[in-house]
Amino acid sequence: MRYSQSFINTRRDDPKDETATNARLLIRGGFIDKLMAGSYTFLPLGWRVYQKIEQIVREEMNAVGSGEILMPLLHPRDVWNETGRWADPNVKQIMYQFKSVDEKEYGLSFTHEEIFLDVVRKNSLSYKNLPIKLYHFSTKFRNEPRAKSGLLRGREFIMKDLYSLHATQDDLDKFYWEVKDAYLRVFDRVGLKDVKVVEASGGVFTSGHTHEFQLVSPVGEDNIYFCDKCDWAQNKEIYTHKIGEACPKCGGQVEEASSIEVGNIFRFGTVYSEKMGINFKDSDGKDNPPYLGSYGIGMSRLVGVLAEVFNDEAGMKWPKSVAPFLIHLTFLGGAKDEAEKLYKSLAQKNMDVLWDDREESAGVKLSDADLIGIPYRVIVSDKTLAKDSVEIKERGSDKVEMVKLDELSSWLERLE
Ligand SMILES: [Zn+2]
Repeated sequence: MRYSQSFINTRRDDPKDETATNARLLIRGGFIDKLMAGSYTFLPLGWRVYQKIEQIVREEMNAVGSGEILMPLLHPRDVWNETGRWADPNVKQIMYQFKSVDEKEYGLSFTHEEIFLDVVRKNSLSYKNLPIKLYHFSTKFRNEPRAKSGLLRGREFIMKDLYSLHATQDDLDKFYWEVKDAYLRVFDRVGLKDVKVVEASGGVFTSGHTHEFQLVSPVGEDNIYFCDKCDWAQNKEIYTHKIGEACPKCGGQVEEASSIEVGNIFRFGTVYSEKMGINFKDSDGKDNPPYLGSYGIGMSRLVGVLAEVFNDEAGMKWPKSVAPFLIHLTFLGGAKDEAEKLYKSLAQKNMDVLWDDREESAGVKLSDADLIGIPYRVIVSDKTLAKDSVEIKERGSDKVEMVKLDELSSWLERLE
């Protein structure tokens, strides 16, 4: 893609109304634009990062046998009344609810359990066509009084939510743990290696225990307790021990840390099915309520989390798997025509290249490259051309490598 045609607008200075690192760096790098607190536009660079994350999540959701759909965001009151959640004071705190001019009541989606169940109940359900597993990527709305953390806490944000319906608790349990493993693969693939699976209380959603996926981070607003030896971890709502106490599972030492929640998984049992009068036929032909599970990943939040983790004083340092591009190609001095030729040959091979074709000073172009944080910067200049070469530098490293022009494609292909 050509820089000059891609609506990339970087800024030298921090935006005055943002305190969160993720918002400051993403706005300066031209990834997002702020509409109001907790509400951002994804610009072309930011949307490419989002789409790379989305594709990783999609691959892992398909791998556990779930199908992708898209559910509406505008919900009629009646379906939410069936579970009693429309009038629940905790729900009213976070759900945008309003009347249209013709006095009909609607809410904006903050989750989709009722809508998923409404979709599946229109089909005859039997033990033969369960489980059902469907997911979507879609916008969620949440009336958020503390929207000051950039993409970490939005009034409007994108989630991946998966819903599953099962004939037995055992089958729900089995799938629940499969999704847990799939989530850990997602976080590993986007570059987050230290995500903990934390036992949590269900809050407004369910009376049983749930699990949160928490990334240990100094900017996190959650607190978790975890063992320094095994995978035992709990959040502060259910933790009753003290720091330094022995881990109840292995005897190791319990530590405390602040963390950011990046995902969560719930087992609702039959509560919602019963409230909505949904049954399936078991193998004896009897009607039974099916078991519901629900599994979320904060997708736009993940972009913010990655920005918090992968940066230095010069800007972003994206992991290869989610970087907006793999290669940032630029030219210095009179080497534009040669660089343009190189761009065309790389583009023909479908390489993931941002071509900075702007007539700007070296200082501007190199500091923009650092701000945007693409993993590999390729410079074509009179000096490198004199050696039939380009200069390659990895973002965040001081090492510069000269690579011959005719060897560049194969050099770059090894990165993909
Ligand atoms: Zn332990």
